[in-house]
Amino acid sequence: MLIDVALALPLYRTFTYSVPEGTTGSIARGSRVVVPFRNKREIGIVIGEASPKDGLKLKDIVSAPDDRPVLSDALIQLCEWIAEYYVTPLGVALRTALPSALTGASVPLPSRKTRRIATLIAELPTLMERDKTFARSAQQRTLFELLENLGGSAAVEVLNEQLQFSPSVLNGLVKKNLVAISEETVERDPFRLRTPRKSEAHVPTDAQSEAIERLLARKGGEVSLLHGITGSGKTLVYLEFLRSVVNERGQTAIVLVPEIALTPQTVDRFRAVFGDKIAVLHSALSDGERYDAWLAIRRGEKRVVVGARSAIFAPLENLGAIVIDEEHEPSYKQGESPRYHAREVALMRARIEGAVVVLGTATPSLESWTNAAAGRFELLTLPDRAGGAKLPNVSVVDLRSERPKSVSSQENPADSAYAYAISRSLDAALSNRLQKAEQSILLLNRRGYSAFIQCGTCADVSVCPNCSISLTYHRTREQLVCHYCLHTEKVQTTCVRCGGTRIRQRGLGTQQVERLLGERFPSARIARMDVDTTTGKWAHSEILDRVGAGEVDILLGTQMIAKGLDFPNVTLVGVIDADVGINLPDFRASERCFQLLSQVAGRAGRGPKGGQVIIQTRVPTHYAVKCAVAHDFHGFVREEYDGRVNPAYPPVIRLANIVVSGTNEEATRDAADELGNWLRRLMKQRPSPGVTVIGAAPCPIERVKQRWRWHVLVKSERAPEMTRLLKYLAMKFELPKQHGLRLSIDRDPVQLM
Ligand code: ADP
Ligand code: ZN
Repeated sequence: MLIDVALALPLYRTFTYSVPEGTTGSIARGSRVVVPFRNKREIGIVIGEASPKDGLKLKDIVSAPDDRPVLSDALIQLCEWIAEYYVTPLGVALRTALPSALTGASVPLPSRKTRRIATLIAELPTLMERDKTFARSAQQRTLFELLENLGGSAAVEVLNEQLQFSPSVLNGLVKKNLVAISEETVERDPFRLRTPRKSEAHVPTDAQSEAIERLLARKGGEVSLLHGITGSGKTLVYLEFLRSVVNERGQTAIVLVPEIALTPQTVDRFRAVFGDKIAVLHSALSDGERYDAWLAIRRGEKRVVVGARSAIFAPLENLGAIVIDEEHEPSYKQGESPRYHAREVALMRARIEGAVVVLGTATPSLESWTNAAAGRFELLTLPDRAGGAKLPNVSVVDLRSERPKSVSSQENPADSAYAYAISRSLDAALSNRLQKAEQSILLLNRRGYSAFIQCGTCADVSVCPNCSISLTYHRTREQLVCHYCLHTEKVQTTCVRCGGTRIRQRGLGTQQVERLLGERFPSARIARMDVDTTTGKWAHSEILDRVGAGEVDILLGTQMIAKGLDFPNVTLVGVIDADVGINLPDFRASERCFQLLSQVAGRAGRGPKGGQVIIQTRVPTHYAVKCAVAHDFHGFVREEYDGRVNPAYPPVIRLANIVVSGTNEEATRDAADELGNWLRRLMKQRPSPGVTVIGAAPCPIERVKQRWRWHVLVKSERAPEMTRLLKYLAMKFELPKQHGLRLSIDRDPVQLM
């Protein structure tokens, strides 16, 4: 018997092997096989039976480790689409859909531990009997009733989580022969240690009810865009919709969130509703834990999967719904091959498996908005905040007039540095919140102490030797750090270029603002949340739990703090520098800025006390800032869309970014030029209507990790032409085999840096 096998190698084809007699494992489509390939052993996926090829001597597979396929036919179809659309070898796409434990060298055995289960073994039919039995223990009675409500059986630790009783209470029930304790083996699930926040059962508002009903009326493969302002209660809509899908229709569901570590509150709400039926694919899971979760999902024990991007490949069957929260987030796009966008993959999976898709956000991506406007997606709107809360009042501080001219020109450098970072109105608002014991969130989307170091004499800026970006000064280790390649070096006291000794720090980072705030408000409890303070596995949720428990007065952080947080006692949000990123040479810079400002502003005023937002900027008239201040998404979209017509950018056209990189500057430039010319020659020979080729040009960040980078942009009016062209390019265009030259194709890029 012959089989076609996809291998995770940079080759756009499958390979045929023969299956020796006596092979016991599964060789059905979707099973793994170990095969010899160029003197090595590779793990591949069986795509199907192959027909005999004349005159070819085929190699035998080495082994077939699975007793049934690890990928369903639907997931293989999905990966076939990914391979075609994103121009990736099928084997690479298939590998992405599996936990790494299954594609590595050895298959780990799931580790099991046991837990104690309490089960009711006697019923208490009458209230009178109840009163008699529990005459002296109200706690025993509560526990008994909880167990009844949970269907008669539950893990002891779950009961304990909810009631926090002493062991004697349970033992009492056991002695009365009402409850029996047994042991059960469980998969590793680090989340069971988290106590979910008690879910407040809200009655849906009219707008929420309508959205839920319309979602329930959708057919498989259809897509709804849930445009709900910040605090409008999108989570409740997801939950009620999924409750019907999972509990009533008996189907399964996937919930995608941008970064699971940043959204512990959202995850808690899902856990509170779906309990044991939920699998949370946290980025902090070990490979083994991830594999355990995958197994539990495949066995059908988990019916709702919550996770970041890659959770879209969860091996659920009978999939009824896919929810994508914050659908506009760039983290849904994978930065390496296959460069898929989880939203697009979700749409395709939903079409293949007949699931309903919900895209939720306060700031829809221009792509999704355009799809809704064209009627391809159904638009659902939540125009008001839930629970009577109001959108916060947003005001702008013009840094050009309100900021001191320079830090060093003042008498007291510490004072002036503070005044440079925090304007008088933001300072007054912070003091006011501290007095009232209300909480504040401060956004500065730049980590480190200062953005860069510059010589005061010759203006030389310290740059990374490997990348074309400046080094960031980190004070905790007195180092300059490259945020791209992590190169570090000592801070020099004299300029390497001119020998000058007036070395200046420029541009604020979160470390510096944290210090300045500490000096200004010595008794305030300040927490900083950025990449440097969240290296531990559970660091994000530890910080956020402290904020939730009221143990933090000021939460300062990078864009990490802008997402999904729902703290009713936060009444002030300050944006220290709204302009970080607004001038990047990237067609999405304004959209990102608008989204970030709108999202962070949305953290304020979620409770009855209302809220206020202060945005510090040097470009108060920029439409991204103006529209964020006015909570005006429609105004923003109009202006932004017009800006993407000429020159044309998505969603007006389809875009692919083709990057050539290499270790030698000239060779990289020449190869990229050749690529651009090759494409233009091709267009002459076989005209593709509506396709244009731009460049080559250096990437905005010309060098990263010692590799030079040039790019060619391809624009196409229609998707099929783009697919055809990119496929042809991937198969036919060859780079010189020198200077480590590499080609990467990024279709529908979320950034061009
Ligand atoms: P979003 O994700 O749309 O920003 P959330 O789902 O976080 O909003 O909800 C915002 C807040 O409103 C939460 O604290 C939630 O508990 C509350 N909430 C949601 N729906 C209702 C409702 N129908 N009545 C009262 N409060 C609600
Ligand atoms: Zn670097």
